[in-house]
Amino acid sequence: MVVDFGMFQGFSEKEGLNKVPAALDPLKIDAVVLTHGHLDHCGRLPLLAKAGYHGPIFTTEPTIPLASLILRDSAHLQAMDAERYNRKHPDKEPTEPIYSAKDVDDLIGLFKPVNYDQRVEVAPGIRAQFVEAGHMLGSASIRLTVEDGGKTKNIVFSGDVGPKGAPILKDAVGFHQADFVVMESTYGDRDHKPLAETVEEFEGIVNKAVASKGKLLVPVFAIGRTQLLLYLLAQMFRNKTVQKFPIFLDSPMAIQATKIYWEHMSLFDEEFQALSRERPLTQDLTSLKATPTAQDSMALNDQPGPCLIMAGAGMCSGGRILHHLRHNLSKPEACVLIVGYQGEGSLGRRLVDGEKEVSMFGEKIQVRATIHTLGGFSAHAGQTDLMDWFGHLAAAHPRVALTHGEDRGRLPLAKLIQERYGIKVVLPQLGETVEL
Ligand SMILES: [Zn+2]
Repeated sequence: MVVDFGMFQGFSEKEGLNKVPAALDPLKIDAVVLTHGHLDHCGRLPLLAKAGYHGPIFTTEPTIPLASLILRDSAHLQAMDAERYNRKHPDKEPTEPIYSAKDVDDLIGLFKPVNYDQRVEVAPGIRAQFVEAGHMLGSASIRLTVEDGGKTKNIVFSGDVGPKGAPILKDAVGFHQADFVVMESTYGDRDHKPLAETVEEFEGIVNKAVASKGKLLVPVFAIGRTQLLLYLLAQMFRNKTVQKFPIFLDSPMAIQATKIYWEHMSLFDEEFQALSRERPLTQDLTSLKATPTAQDSMALNDQPGPCLIMAGAGMCSGGRILHHLRHNLSKPEACVLIVGYQGEGSLGRRLVDGEKEVSMFGEKIQVRATIHTLGGFSAHAGQTDLMDWFGHLAAAHPRVALTHGEDRGRLPLAKLIQERYGIKVVLPQLGETVEL
């Protein structure tokens, strides 16, 4: 059984970790279960198909189109990166993408949709139950019930857990019974700023941008935050707290992801469903325009303010947002709104850090635009929500392994679980084996 098989990103990507580990024989895997569609959870799955795995990959229904979108994009980016590298370094050993578009297509044929809450046999003697994790559309925590030699063991995988009360998504449900828990700990050390405050701040920034007739540029990752911002803008227009102004969704991937989101209305929280019953959100978003082609995107240079442009990449490390930044960073009436994590060394981080001059496309550009950072829109639960999620399981006294976090996040969370419940917590290293 394999549970998630993600891609290493950022610094660790360079260390050659994006492969099938030697201890894992793809032809001996009975089944794969996938918690959600983010690249750091599904990004290496095509390597299994490439190595001949043709068993099932169980996941929730919306995760299938979302993961497919992300994996196709990943194969495309890898092909472009390899092409660029080989062109620039004709004297060096040519580099190759770790998988191709065909490997992704082969993999997509293996996905098997599973409903939330239902129990399904995923392999002989192993049943799985997927429950809402509130992190992105389709996200799940998974419990595997394993029967072996007359004994039953329950192993719970949190996947990525979303914050309570976040707009659009239902709250994470969690489980009440487990012998072993593998739990994420991304923000195990802190709580986020209350969401209502962040929404209010967002509204203030939008109103100011509209009043100054500037362009509001928002670097976004295609899935999650984009739909959250569209939802909030629709609400502001409906409640007339902000006057309608042009919004551009300038990312082909975000356009597709938004379409997938809106097709799954029944999976959203009660508030969103009630709003859409009253009147579809699209009627509030009449000033929203998708700009799928490069020409559409370039035409936005001549678009007068006020307007809001959402474009990738989320860390300003490439993509269409770079062109918009190049045209607008030097304009004092322009505004850049950072809503996601900005990795060390990225252009987004330099802007957040208040650098007054940045280099792009070989030019030096003065930063006169206002840079705003909104930290409260995280898709990950903070410490209190993680402890609540775990709280349901505490009475069963499971063993716990904390993953998916740097030590900064997981050490304080481990300490808290040990102190509050007297439960032993292990902090596994990459490649470490834990006996169940
Ligand atoms: Zn995730």
